[in-house]
Amino acid sequence: MRDFLCPSCGNRLAFENSVCLRCGSAIGFDLPRRAFRPVDSTGATDDGGRPARVCNNLSIARCNWLAPIDAPGGLCLSCRLTRTRPNNDDLIGLREFGKAESAKRRLVVQLDELGLPIVGRDEDPTGGLCFDLLSSEHHRVITGHANGVITIDLAEGDDVHREQLRVSMAEPYRTMLGHFRHEIGHYYYLVLASRGAERQRFEELFGDPDTSYSDALDRHYSGGAPEGWQDDYVSSYATMHPAEDWAETFAHYLHIRDTLDTAAAFGTAPAGVTLDRPIPGPAGFRYILNQWLPLTWTLNMVNRSMGHSDLYPFVLPPPVLGKMQFVHELVTARQLRVRNPQAVG
Ligand SMILES: [Zn+2]
Ligand SMILES: [Zn+2]
Ligand SMILES: [Zn+2]
Repeated sequence: MRDFLCPSCGNRLAFENSVCLRCGSAIGFDLPRRAFRPVDSTGATDDGGRPARVCNNLSIARCNWLAPIDAPGGLCLSCRLTRTRPNNDDLIGLREFGKAESAKRRLVVQLDELGLPIVGRDEDPTGGLCFDLLSSEHHRVITGHANGVITIDLAEGDDVHREQLRVSMAEPYRTMLGHFRHEIGHYYYLVLASRGAERQRFEELFGDPDTSYSDALDRHYSGGAPEGWQDDYVSSYATMHPAEDWAETFAHYLHIRDTLDTAAAFGTAPAGVTLDRPIPGPAGFRYILNQWLPLTWTLNMVNRSMGHSDLYPFVLPPPVLGKMQFVHELVTARQLRVRNPQAVG
């Protein structure tokens, strides 16, 4: 995540700001430029010859992004991906919806920077991406992915509820952003790794993705993760099924890339690791890792100095790195193709 400046006064801005706290200017985030633009009292801007308005979800989901003037529903790209949200009279659901959308915007900007395709359900009605952000206040909601549709239980936005789940499942890390990164991993399996040579490589590294999911689920929740899982998997949940191993690995790849990108924006990692620069192949992955390991050690120790638990409470054994390198190669190949279609073919 970049370091943002107010276009009016140069004050530093956080990604979530809709108003500059120093000069009071209203601002909107411009995804194509990855910068903030000033907006007038009606929420409009024509800066750069591209007229836009603040997203219609500003008040309901605290969305501070700009939407093109002719965008359906007046919604920004991120908000348009949401197919279902709580009703206007569900006040608890709406509060959690705002938190979820905030995490989702971090996801969407990262996918965009990495050059990963974001094809909505409006463009591809059978396999396109969309989000059902559902409140489990009144009925059961299962967070998951099915053929482009990502369902998120908004109750995960409640800190007490989420922390109870995290402790009861003995997970070292559980966040709304982590859920989005995991579920989008399932979607990008279909886009990046489900066919041809990529699928074959997937099977070598993760196993057969068509293995019975319900059997795997029963096995995992009755017997738990196999002894010594830490040698081969990034989390105990990843041991359940090849599809979950991929999604967990993909989520960690996004964690690592975005955290390094932020560190680079603030001068604590080299500029070469930013998300917008393709660093292809095994050598590129090694470079990322060489920056990541000392940074995460430092940040873990800093957290401990404050009495917090580790920022990144995970160990990455060689088999996990092999799987993550495969994710890296698929992502950067796609990024290069987006950047330079002629050269890569
Ligand atoms: Zn300002
Ligand atoms: Zn929006
Ligand atoms: Zn999953």
